[in-house]
Amino acid sequence: MEKIFDIIIVGGGQSGLTCGYHLRRSNFSFLILDKHEKPGGAWNNAWDSLTLFSPAEHSSLAGWQMPKSENLFPSKDEVISYLHQYEVHYQLPIKRNTEVLSITNENKIFSLKTTQGDFYSKVVIGATGTWNNPFIPNIVGKELFKGIQIHSAHYKNAETFKGLNILVVGEGNSGAQLVAEISKVANVKWSTKNEPQFLPDDVDGFSLFNTATAKYKAEKEGKPFIAENYDLGNIVMVPSVKEARDRGVLISSGIFKKIDENGIIWENGTKESFDVIVWCTGFGFATSFLKELVEMDERGIVKTVESKVQAIDGLWLVGYGGWTGFASATLIGINRNVKLAIQEVEDYLLNSLKN
Ligand code: FAD
Repeated sequence: MEKIFDIIIVGGGQSGLTCGYHLRRSNFSFLILDKHEKPGGAWNNAWDSLTLFSPAEHSSLAGWQMPKSENLFPSKDEVISYLHQYEVHYQLPIKRNTEVLSITNENKIFSLKTTQGDFYSKVVIGATGTWNNPFIPNIVGKELFKGIQIHSAHYKNAETFKGLNILVVGEGNSGAQLVAEISKVANVKWSTKNEPQFLPDDVDGFSLFNTATAKYKAEKEGKPFIAENYDLGNIVMVPSVKEARDRGVLISSGIFKKIDENGIIWENGTKESFDVIVWCTGFGFATSFLKELVEMDERGIVKTVESKVQAIDGLWLVGYGGWTGFASATLIGINRNVKLAIQEVEDYLLNSLKN
């Protein structure tokens, strides 16, 4: 019979590595499976100029400080290098180029069908993030457009957009950062559903995390939370966004109602042609490998209590943001989420040994 692991973690980005960190000294056998050929999780897919929105000293995983960066916010390459060194430093067992296609469960053992054969485990922890499930809204006429359509998850740089007419759609951090970058080489219009909201210049990802933590604690204790004069989802004023604001390009043209073969039709009925539409419209969750095992909504959200999946014993999900644990989709927030999940996993395995 093939080896049955105590725990298999699907996904070797920051969330999966944090699971490995907390299991490395346990007596449980575990393995991390990741479909990417290289370390660094989804940071490998990010666009060239992406940086963190919090300084290195506030973006570290459990146990090991992210090295100081010469920039205020570390670059994506510095994050990738840190995650690579982290997995080497803790000698975490990772099998790469191994995509988990589906999972079934029989007599409390999970069978994982992968591109490198089948694996078996008593517990599965999903840590597959969001980047593999980019979200594009279903707008009338989208399939008619003759130009290029690209989601921010697949955008690298503005090299190929020089001199073109570009429409950037989406009012979050990605939308603002790509308007800032592309507007330097091309004619850009920015379409957002609501008026974009920017954080004060002195509020970075770390202060945002502290405010969000204070809000989370107050809500847990049933106390009123006196919000700062901004919303936690507002745009972080990283240097490139500040520069674009000063250049006067961060102006929204509002929403459009349809797409045709040449471009779009704005709310007021005027038509405008574009060469490229860049969708900065966020992500669902890369949980499709669980489709045969548990129900999920259209974004890939599965019913959990914190990280523990309700529908089946032995399955946990970490790092997917609020629905799996407060701030769990951030470098600074993932540790709390995983620590709790691993405690539950160990209790579950110890109990199953007794029965
Ligand atoms: P990922 O990094 O996505 O890693 C998941 C891993 O699972 C990947 O390696 C993938 O190859 C693998 N995988 C997926 N499906 C399968 C499968 N079926 N089988 C096997 N392997 C699979 N957070 C911050 O703290 N600071 C920031 O400044 C910040 N900026 C962000 C900017 C953007 C544009 C985005 C989208 C997110 C940002 N985040 C930031 C949020 C978060 O840190 C990242 O999304 C991070 O990548 C999440 O880590 P993860 O390990 O949960 O998922």
